[in-house]
Amino acid sequence: MRILVAEDEKRIARFIRQALEEQGFGVDLTHDGDEAYLSATTQQYDAIVLDIMLPGRDGLSILRNLRAQGNATPVILLTARTELDERLEGLNLGADDYVTKPFYVEELIARIHAVTRRAEGERLSILQVADLSVNLITREVTLGTGAVDLTAREFSLLAYLMRAPGRVFPRTQILEHVWGYDFDPTSNLVDVYIQRLRKKIDPDGGRQLIETVRGVGYRFRAV
Ligand code: CA
Repeated sequence: MRILVAEDEKRIARFIRQALEEQGFGVDLTHDGDEAYLSATTQQYDAIVLDIMLPGRDGLSILRNLRAQGNATPVILLTARTELDERLEGLNLGADDYVTKPFYVEELIARIHAVTRRAEGERLSILQVADLSVNLITREVTLGTGAVDLTAREFSLLAYLMRAPGRVFPRTQILEHVWGYDFDPTSNLVDVYIQRLRKKIDPDGGRQLIETVRGVGYRFRAV
């Protein structure tokens, strides 16, 4: 795991780096806000430890800009005891957590583990094929930048197929999984729902995200 640490108090910064490296983290250290922003926008980190008061760009402005660009890297703010307003503003801007100086480095490490685990969980809960994205937790479906409105059953069907792009699902298996009851095997329920789903996730019909496998069932295209 790679962590960016932006802290201008050099003694504290060195101390954090040493402790993180002992835990096996890779650490990029910077004492300057502009440099921190450049690193955060050009490199991939698992988390950013961000002091609020930095020379150059301050921590909150860095955070605001990252979030405005859609950068969701977990951020833990380092705040002074007196910076209550800044702390609240930071949380409102999308900071994942904060620690107040002086702090035990073990606490910072525990919080880094917590926010990166959370981020990993969120990443795993999103299914993405081309520009179609399905969030299994919030149940939001987006196509490009637009929201797709699905019924509960349509959502289950889509999520089921999208979990294994390229795999062929027989109609009977889809029925059992998505509807979960005994059914008339001659029912065309699956076909009806597939047609509806196709119209919603591929309105112009140009992409054929759900392929028909003749005589068997359906498969979500592996893009
Ligand atoms: Ca500072």
